[in-house]
Amino acid sequence: MSANAEPREGLVIGGHRFVPMIDAAAIAAAVGRLGDEIRASFGNANPLIVCVLNGAALFHADLIRAIGGELEVDYLRVGSYDGGMVSTGRINFTAAPGTSARDRNVILVEDIVDTGRTADHLRRYYQHKGAASVAVAALLYKREADITGHPPEFLGFEIPDRFVVGYGLDYQQQGRNLPAVYVLDAGGAA
Ligand code: 5GP
Repeated sequence: MSANAEPREGLVIGGHRFVPMIDAAAIAAAVGRLGDEIRASFGNANPLIVCVLNGAALFHADLIRAIGGELEVDYLRVGSYDGGMVSTGRINFTAAPGTSARDRNVILVEDIVDTGRTADHLRRYYQHKGAASVAVAALLYKREADITGHPPEFLGFEIPDRFVVGYGLDYQQQGRNLPAVYVLDAGGAA
């Protein structure tokens, strides 16, 4: 199998079977649509397109090319929420953003919005830093799991509350380089 193959019968990672959910062509179409939507909203605003590592690395790389035009990028990684994010805007970064967000139109790029905590904390962080606007672009959204009631402004796919891997998302740090998204087989073990 080549490095870029898309296993159509599913695959096993860490002893668990995953089956195809969203193929690479559907992802590419969604990324193209999201690029059009973001360009229509912020194309003249030199937006700051922030990649929430590690999971959003692939989505962000494809999305910034789909948006095109004038934009800037930044990257961050969030640690655990122990101690949490408080109203002062403190957040536990394991890789901190490098670009000032003051008066910028910020788009947070996430692989998946699950409970919504990450998006919620980062929205408040950037608001506290004086961003002109903050929006979230997510490839995937588990509406049933979202405790914030705040869906991403730019969304690829709404999915059921099931565990997924691929296109940046991992299981035990494996599977991030898969070109498609796979879901844990209801049967579970391989
Ligand atoms: P949150 O719960 O804050 O919305 O999401 C936190 C993080 O949990 C996501 O950025 C993602 O890294 C991880 N996550 C949530 N659901 C899944 C999933 O189904 N698969 C994988 N691989 N990671 C997930």
